[in-house]
Amino acid sequence: MSSDSAARDETSPARSEDGRVWDVVVVGAGPAGASAAHAAASAGRRVLLLEKARLPRYKTCGGGIIGPSREALPPGFEPPLRDRVHAVTFSLNGRLTRTRRSRHTLFELVSRPEFDAGLVRAAREAGAEVRTGVTVTRVEQHGPAVPDRRTVAVVLADGTAVLARAVVGADGSASRIGAHVGVKLAHVDLGLEAEIPVPPSVAEDWAGRVLIDWGPIPGSYGWVFPKGDSLTVGVISARGEGTETKRYLDDLIARLGLAGFEPTVSSGHLTRCRSDDSPLSRGRVLVCGDAAGLLEPWTREGISFALRSGRLAGEWAVRIAEAHDAVDTRRQALNYAFAIKAGLGVEMGVGRRLYAAFARRPGVFHAAVTGLRPAWRAFARVTRGSTSFAEIVRTHPAARRVLMAVDRLG
Ligand SMILES: Cc1cc2nc3c(=O)[nH]c(=O)nc-3n(C[C@H](O)[C@H](O)[C@H](O)COP(=O)(O)OP(=O)(O)OC[C@H]3O[C@@H](n4cnc5c(N)ncnc54)[C@H](O)[C@@H]3O)c2cc1C
Repeated sequence: MSSDSAARDETSPARSEDGRVWDVVVVGAGPAGASAAHAAASAGRRVLLLEKARLPRYKTCGGGIIGPSREALPPGFEPPLRDRVHAVTFSLNGRLTRTRRSRHTLFELVSRPEFDAGLVRAAREAGAEVRTGVTVTRVEQHGPAVPDRRTVAVVLADGTAVLARAVVGADGSASRIGAHVGVKLAHVDLGLEAEIPVPPSVAEDWAGRVLIDWGPIPGSYGWVFPKGDSLTVGVISARGEGTETKRYLDDLIARLGLAGFEPTVSSGHLTRCRSDDSPLSRGRVLVCGDAAGLLEPWTREGISFALRSGRLAGEWAVRIAEAHDAVDTRRQALNYAFAIKAGLGVEMGVGRRLYAAFARRPGVFHAAVTGLRPAWRAFARVTRGSTSFAEIVRTHPAARRVLMAVDRLG
C-alpha cells in the first residue's frame, strides 16, 4: 500500500460497500477468529470473516494442541496431525537431560497453515462468508460511516467499510481492534522459531517425542516439536531481550546437532498476556485470542485460549447483534467478560504465579517435573486436558500449599 493511501485510510470518512449490514463481522482468521465465525454462523447469523493474508498462511507457532484445544474444536473437526507426543525430554539450559514417557498421548502437533485453513473451512461450511487478502484498518462506532447507533463500520485498507451489528476482533498480537478496545497488557514475549527439514534418520529419532529446555534468560524456554519430515525449533523470552533470545535459539539448534540443516522458515512473533483489569469489549466490539491478550502466562499456550475465547466471543456477538439499545449491549458484553474471567481468567491467574516463580527458579521446576512423580503426572494430565493447573489448585489442598510455596520463590 502506498503511503498516500495509508494516510487516507486513517483520516478520510469510509464509504459503506453496499449498505448491507452483517450480523457479525470477525476480523482475523486464526483459531480465535475461525472459532468465533463458526459459533456465530452455527447460530444461523449472517457472518463475515475478514483476513488480511491469503490462506493458507504461515504463523510462527509450535503447533502444540493440548487437550483443551482439542475439546474446543468445532464438532466433527479432525485436526490434520503431524505427530502425537508420548515422551518429553526435559533439560535445564542443555544440562541434566531426562526423558519422561507416557502410555497415553500427551498432546498433538499440527502445522499451523494446515490447521488454520481447516478451521476456516469449517467456519465457511457452517455458513460464514470468508474474504481473504483484506486488511482492516480500524472500526468506527459513530461518525459519518455509521448509519445508526446499532451499527459498527469496519473500515478496510481500500477506504471502503463493511457494516455490522457486532464485531469480533481476533486479529492477533498486533491487534488494531484490541487498540480500539483499549486492551492493557501485563506481559509481552518474543517467540523465535525455525522450521528445519531433516533427513529420515533424524526425523525418526524425534518421532513422538518433544524437547523442552528451560532457558538461560529468566522466564525463557525452548522446544523441539517434530512435524514428520521437519522439526519446529523455537524459543520464547520476554520482549526487549532480542539479541539474547536469538543467541539462545542459535545455541539450542547447535547443541542439538541441527545447525547443518537449512531452515525453510525463520521467523518471530510476539505473544501477549492481558492485565487482570484489561477490557474485553467496547460498545458492540468484542476481542478474543491474542488480540485480547488471552494466553497461558507460563507455557504461553495460546491455541486453546484462542479457540475457547473465540467460541465465547462468537456466541456473545450474536446476542450483541440482537441488542436494541446501549444498556442491553452493555449487559451482553459484561456477560462475555464474565464468561472469560470465570474460566480463562482463573487459569491465567494461576499461570502468572507459576511464571513468576519459574522466572526466578527454573531449576526447581526442572527438578520437580523430572524427579517427582506427582509433578510429572500433573504436567501430563494438564497437557492431556483431564485437568488444568487452576483446577488442581482448586481441588487439592496440597497443591494449594505447593503454590503458596511457589509464590514465595517468586
Ligand atoms: C513462537 C511461538 C510458539 C507458539 N507455540 C504455541 C503452541 O505450540 N501451542 C499453543 O497453543 N500456542 C502457541 N503459541 C501461541 C499461539 O500461536 C497464539 O496464541 C495463537 O495463534 C492465537 O490465535 P489468534 O487466532 O488469537 O491469533 P493469530 O493466530 O495470530 O491470528 C490472527 C489473524 O488475524 C489476521 N490479521 C491481523 N491483523 C489483521 C487485520 N488488520 N485485518 C485482517 N486480518 C488481520 C492475521 O493475518 C492472522 O491470520 C505460540 C506463539 C509463538 C509466538
